[in-house]
Amino acid sequence: MRALVYRGHRRIEVERVPDAETPGPDGALVRTTRFAICGSDLHGYHGPVNEERIGRAMGHECIGEVVSVGPEVRRFRAGDRVLVSAVVGCGRCEACAALLTARCPNREGRVLGAPGLDAAQAEAIGVPAADSSLLRIPEGVSDEQAVLLTDILPTGYKGARGAGIQPGGAVAVVGAGPVGQMAIETAFLFGPSRVFAIDQAAYRLAEAERLGAIPIDASEVDPVEAVLDQTGGRGCAHVVEAAGPQATVRIAFGVLAHGGTLSQVGATADPEMTVNLMAVFGKDLTYRVGLVSPQFAWPELVPLLREGKLHPERVFTHRLPMSEGPRGYSVFDERRDGVIKVLLDPAG
Ligand SMILES: [Zn+2]
Ligand SMILES: [Zn+2]
Repeated sequence: MRALVYRGHRRIEVERVPDAETPGPDGALVRTTRFAICGSDLHGYHGPVNEERIGRAMGHECIGEVVSVGPEVRRFRAGDRVLVSAVVGCGRCEACAALLTARCPNREGRVLGAPGLDAAQAEAIGVPAADSSLLRIPEGVSDEQAVLLTDILPTGYKGARGAGIQPGGAVAVVGAGPVGQMAIETAFLFGPSRVFAIDQAAYRLAEAERLGAIPIDASEVDPVEAVLDQTGGRGCAHVVEAAGPQATVRIAFGVLAHGGTLSQVGATADPEMTVNLMAVFGKDLTYRVGLVSPQFAWPELVPLLREGKLHPERVFTHRLPMSEGPRGYSVFDERRDGVIKVLLDPAG
C-alpha cells in the first residue's frame, strides 16, 4: 500500500510500505477514504531530524471503511463507514469505559502513528481496541466533518469547554489555526459576551472574524495590551490556548483575568516550555492542560453537527490527492496560499 512517509527535515515522500493488518483480536483493519494533515504533524516535519521516525508513516486523522475485524470486536463489521479516533486506549479499563482514552494507563504512545501504532496517512490502517477507537459515521455528518471529529473538533471543544465559559463572559482564544478555529466556533455555543481571536496571520483572523470573533493581530500590536485595553484592564475570564509554543502560552496567561480559567489544548512540542508559577500565583487561576479524548466529545458534538449548529468543515482550504501530500505539507508549514487545513484523498 502507499503511505506518506517521514524522510527527514521537511521531507515527506509518497512510498510503498507493507500492507496494514488487523492488529490483534480486538482490532480492525480500515481502508482509508480521507485523511488530514494536523498542526502537530508539522512539529515532526519542521523540527530537528528524528532518526527513530525515518521511514515511518505520518498522520493521525482519518476516516474509512472497515475491511475486517478481529474476533473480539462487537460493534463493527466489514463495510462499516467509520471515523478513527486519533487517540486510542486499551478499550478495557475504567478510563476507556468513561470515554477518557487520553487517561488510559495501559498504553504509552496513544496517538496514532506513535511507536507501536499505525499512522493515518496511508491507504489502510490497523486500529487496536476497535470498539473504543471507531465511530460509525452518523447520518447527517459529512465525510469532511467526520475527519474533524477524529481530533481537532474535539480538541477545540475541549478547550472551550475546559475554559468554563459562562454566558456573558469574555473569552480569548490564542492561536487561530485549525484547532483555534474549532475553539472559537465552539466557544460561541456557551453564550460569551465576546471572543477575542489572537494570531499573526491576517487570513486566519479574517476567518475568525467571520465567526463573530474580535481579531487581534499579534504581528501588529502587543496582544496582551490590546486585550487588556478592550476589557477595562481586567482581561478575559476564559482563555483557550490553541497553539502550543512558549510564546502563545505566555500570551494566554497574560490575557487571563484574575480568578479566570486557562484551558490549554495546543500541543506543546517544546521540551523547555516553562510557566512562571510565581507570576501567575497571584491571579488565583485555574489551569487545565492535556491531550484530548475524542470519544468523550462525540456524544455532544455529533448532534450539533447534525442540527447544522457547527460548520467546522470550513477550515479545509486545500483538498489534494495523496500524491500531492508532500506539497500539502509544505503549503501548510509555510502558511502559503491562505491555508488553514489540508485534506488528502488516498485515491489520488
Ligand atoms: Zn491532529
Ligand atoms: Zn484503557
